[in-house]
Amino acid sequence: MSTLAAPVSHLRENPFEVAREQLAQVADVFNLDANLVNVLGQCKKAVEVSVPTRRDNGSVSVFHGFRVTHNIARGPSKGGIRYHPDVTLDEVKALAMWMTWKCALMGIPFGGAKGGIVCNPKELSRDELERMTRRYTSEIINEIGPERDIPAPDVGTDANVMAWIFDTYSMNKGHSVLGVVTGKPITIGGSLGREEATARGALYCLREALRQQQRGFDGLTVAVQGFGNVGSYLARFLTQNGASVVAVSDSSGGLHNSSGIDIAAATAHKQETGALQGFRGADSITNEELLLVDCEVLAPCALEQVVTGENADKMKARIICEGANGPLTPAADEILEERGVLILPDILANAGGVVVSYFEWVQGLQEYFWKEDEVNAKLNDIVTRAFTQTWELSEHRSISMRMAAYGLAVQRVAEATTTRGLYP
Ligand code: GLU
Repeated sequence: MSTLAAPVSHLRENPFEVAREQLAQVADVFNLDANLVNVLGQCKKAVEVSVPTRRDNGSVSVFHGFRVTHNIARGPSKGGIRYHPDVTLDEVKALAMWMTWKCALMGIPFGGAKGGIVCNPKELSRDELERMTRRYTSEIINEIGPERDIPAPDVGTDANVMAWIFDTYSMNKGHSVLGVVTGKPITIGGSLGREEATARGALYCLREALRQQQRGFDGLTVAVQGFGNVGSYLARFLTQNGASVVAVSDSSGGLHNSSGIDIAAATAHKQETGALQGFRGADSITNEELLLVDCEVLAPCALEQVVTGENADKMKARIICEGANGPLTPAADEILEERGVLILPDILANAGGVVVSYFEWVQGLQEYFWKEDEVNAKLNDIVTRAFTQTWELSEHRSISMRMAAYGLAVQRVAEATTTRGLYP
C-alpha cells in the first residue's frame, strides 16, 4: 500500500485563519456579540477519513479525505467536494465557513459544509475515480443525507462523481435518495441549468455591477482565469453577451489576444487536446501574466489566493468578479480596495451554483422537475436580490462589497443562532 505525498501547495496562507480573520473584521464593523463570534468561528464537525482504493494495476493507494460541517443554524449543511492534490483540512474548513455565509447571503435554507480528497483526479482512471468516490462516500455515509448534509461538485469533481455518491448512498439505504447530493446528471434527477449555474450567477452579478455604472457587456474586456466548470461557461456567456474575452487559462497555462479570443474555438481545442495551450488564435501567457493583462474585468475562477500583496498593485482590471472561492488574499484585498477597484466577492459572485443546487434539492424532494427557463429566472431573482441588498448596504455604510456581503450573511446566521438558542 502507498500513501501519496502532498506536492507543494498553491496556498500561501492558512485559509481557515484567513476566514476567521474575515469573521473578526465583520464582527467589529457590525458590532456582533463576542460569544456568537466564538461559536461562528469554529466548525461544528470535521470528519477525517482514509480512503483505500484499489488501483487498476492491483496495488492499493490510501487517499486522505475530509467532510466538514461549519454551521447548521439555517438548515442542513451544503457544499461541494473537492478533488485536488493540495486539499488540506484547514482549506476545507475555510470553504465550509464560506458556504455558510454564501447560503445565508442568498437567503437559501442551508448551512455550510465542504469535503475533499487529497488526490490528483487527472492521474486516476475513471474506474479508480469511481472506486475512490464510492469508498469515500461509504466512509462519510453517516454524515450526509438530504436533511443532514448535501454534497455537490467543486474543483476536480463533476456530475459523474455525484452519480456515484448518489448510487452508493442509495444502495445502502435500499432506495433512491434524490436529495442526498446535487449536481447530479439530468437523467438521474439533476436539475436543468445546474451545470452552467455558477457561471450564470457570476454573469448576473457582473451585469448588475455594470448597470450601476450605466453600462452593459458590449465591448467590455475581460480576463478569465480557470477554464473548468465556472471559467469556461463564464467566458462563453460573456462573449454571447457582447463582451470581449481577451485572456483565458487553465492549469496548463494561458492565452491572450487583445482583440478577443474565439471562445467556441478555444473550447473545441481544449476538448480535442485536453488543454488550452497550443491554441492558434492567441499568444501563450502564464497564469500569473493573465492576472495582469490589460482588461476592464478580471474573473479569477480557479483556486484560492492567486491575487496577492505582490501582484495586486500591478493589476489593470477595475472590476474583479470572484468566480472562485477566496481568490484574493487579505493583503490583495486591501491594496485593491485602496485603488478603488470594485470587488464582487466570492459569496455573491459564485453563489449561482449552490442556488441551483437548492433548486435541485427541492425538485428532488418533490419529485417534480422544472423547465430550464424557470430555473434560470429564479436564479436571476435570487442573485439580483442579493446583489441589490449588498450594494445598498455597501453604499449606506460606505463599506466594501465584501464587507457588506459578509456582514449581511453573518448577521443572518447570528440571528438564526440567537433565535434558536444555545442547546441545552
Ligand atoms: N462547490 C460550489 C460552491 O463552492 C457549489 C456548492 C453546492 O452546490 O452545494 O459554491
